[in-house]
Amino acid sequence: MAIVGLLLFIALVVLGQAIGGPPGRSTPPPLPVGELELRVFDVGQGDAILLRFRESALLVDAGPDPQTARQVLLPRLARLGVERLDALALTHADSDHIGGAADVLNALPVSAIWMAAKDGAHPLLSVIEAAADRAGAVIERPVDGQILDWHPAITLQAVFASPDVARGDNNQSMVLHVRHGEADILLTGDIEEAAERDLAQRVVGLEADVLKVAHHGAGTSSSREFLAAVQPQVAIISAGLGNAFNHPRDDVLRSLRVIGAHVFRTDLAGDVVVRTDGQHITVALERS
Ligand SMILES: [Zn+2]
Repeated sequence: MAIVGLLLFIALVVLGQAIGGPPGRSTPPPLPVGELELRVFDVGQGDAILLRFRESALLVDAGPDPQTARQVLLPRLARLGVERLDALALTHADSDHIGGAADVLNALPVSAIWMAAKDGAHPLLSVIEAAADRAGAVIERPVDGQILDWHPAITLQAVFASPDVARGDNNQSMVLHVRHGEADILLTGDIEEAAERDLAQRVVGLEADVLKVAHHGAGTSSSREFLAAVQPQVAIISAGLGNAFNHPRDDVLRSLRVIGAHVFRTDLAGDVVVRTDGQHITVALERS
């Protein structure tokens, strides 16, 4: 459901060197009560996305490698005051999404891992499972349409493309549909055109105000059919500056502009931070 009365407010914040704010501010302001925050971290070429609501925190993917987890992701979680995770969702078994997962598990208490990948899909999975064992995190395997237990005020649903029409790790990414009041957010992992087509044709209510663009803006995703079904007003691309894949592709950026989405890129802007009270959306860009 698209938002009624959308307010889009865009702010640029350079942490420790605030623009237009008091000098020397080094930490973001606390999360206002009743606001859901989506934070797409700039972790280079990969995904690491934080959802926060009140005291609850959910990390969707963990960045591309241990070094980025230790030097970028974990310090930013600490700065935000995130000392534990209710869940770590791993959308699919590619290094650029699960490469930092074991380091997160070694550093923070994590109650549950929502794992989309099948056993053996990637050599790192056994390392992650061992770290989960040590941390006491329960591994759960959501199925298509499952409502996930996170915070009672937020509806969180896992969606998967049908495996018979959309094969491969990318296409079997766990898609997360997040709803707070009238506001909808869609996190797409690395799904490609076959999965997008299946979801667009099969899933009722795919519309979302905020879209995490699939597969870092690759040309094999963000089909017109899918974007027409989602109709995002805010589109966020997580990609590494100067990455070898030339993500995001120009035709994807064009398609997003054609449907009227405001596009934000971690490679150019740093962390992209969306907040919503369920009625309105604000977007802030943060550079450390
Ligand atoms: Zn990826």
